[in-house]
Amino acid sequence: MMAMNEIFSGITPVLDNGNIRDLKTPCYVIDEKKLTENAKILKSVISNTGCKILLAQKAFSNYDFYPLLSGSISGTEASGLFEARLGKEEMPEGEVHVFCAAYRDDEFDELLSYADHIVFNSVNQLKKFGLPAKQHGKSVGLRINPECSTQEGHEIYDPCAKGSRLGVTRSVWDRDMTPELLELLDGLHFHTLCEQDSDALEITLKAVEEKFGDVLPRMQWLNMGGGHHITKADYDVAKLEKLLGYAHDKWGVQVYLEPGEAVALNAGYLLTQVLDVVENNGVNIAILDASAACHMPDVIEMPYTPPLYNADSENTKPYSYRLAGPTCLSGDVIGDYSFDNELNAGDLLVFGDMAIYTTCKNNTFNGMPLPDIYRLKPDGSTEKLTDFGYGDFKMRLGK
Ligand SMILES: *Cc1c(COP(=O)(O)O)cnc(C)c1O
Repeated sequence: MMAMNEIFSGITPVLDNGNIRDLKTPCYVIDEKKLTENAKILKSVISNTGCKILLAQKAFSNYDFYPLLSGSISGTEASGLFEARLGKEEMPEGEVHVFCAAYRDDEFDELLSYADHIVFNSVNQLKKFGLPAKQHGKSVGLRINPECSTQEGHEIYDPCAKGSRLGVTRSVWDRDMTPELLELLDGLHFHTLCEQDSDALEITLKAVEEKFGDVLPRMQWLNMGGGHHITKADYDVAKLEKLLGYAHDKWGVQVYLEPGEAVALNAGYLLTQVLDVVENNGVNIAILDASAACHMPDVIEMPYTPPLYNADSENTKPYSYRLAGPTCLSGDVIGDYSFDNELNAGDLLVFGDMAIYTTCKNNTFNGMPLPDIYRLKPDGSTEKLTDFGYGDFKMRLGK
């Protein structure tokens, strides 16, 4: 687990002095100062290398913060129509790129009105939509699959896993690509990393070069996807910059990165309250008003144990508790933590690194309310950005 003081440095002074303890839980608090610090790091990579960096909105799409980011980064990346529209509407000065595993006929015209770059996932899709995209002045790309897994244990997050639908392998390229289709291509895209350092990019880039090095000089750009943990404290930025320079010099391409996580890493908190404490066979379980299943789904999907303020996920402190959600799902468990003091109903708990893959991934399973979202300003004050109630649950289910 990362150093506690790094993850909670933004909220610690506020918790000690501010009125943040009065916010209705559960709620997300997005830390403007942390976002600004992350953006500064990305901006320096851009100015040191000439690369362009896009926000992958699927990780973080709290658009009230787009103006803060837009001075530092180059635009947005979208997973489909709605995110592309959001990027165009809320960061209009930036480029809008879109990648989707398969585009729909009935959405493609509208997509053309938002996107600057359109990346296809297959030669079939390129054949179907490449020419219309080109005729609308779009930059056209194809996602390649370098078949180079650099992560272990997270097959759900490994686009290079055997049988993956993501990206065109070289053997499929050799079978299906025609000179006419190749003519349509302005760039190549790969996305194979997840929370990884630049050593994994180095290995991947070698695989890309081995498999697709012959076609890269024909391209105007190379998009290296997301999963670069650039804003993490011990990330090797110098190596990243070297690799970006290498690609640019070797193939004459404009390099793009589209991190999601790195943009908003450690820039948010989930505030929750203990509702009850129960016991089962010597295990003390605190039931919270936040749910892993609804409000931090990656805890279950990834899975991982999120950082918690003033607590340890190891058994190093005297009081141990399993933290769990209020839903009916037996596995709605956030993790086991130890504390300096006993937990009681009404205690406030603060989870860290909660800006990413949370607010945009929430659901209302069990009729759970969606947590309100606040902005934490640099002066320690908070501003409510949005709130939710019964209507938000009901409106998705009928008329
Ligand atoms: C998920 C994804 C990203 C962002 O990944 P992070 O791990 O959040 O940096 C970027 N591009 C594509 C195509 C993705 O699927």
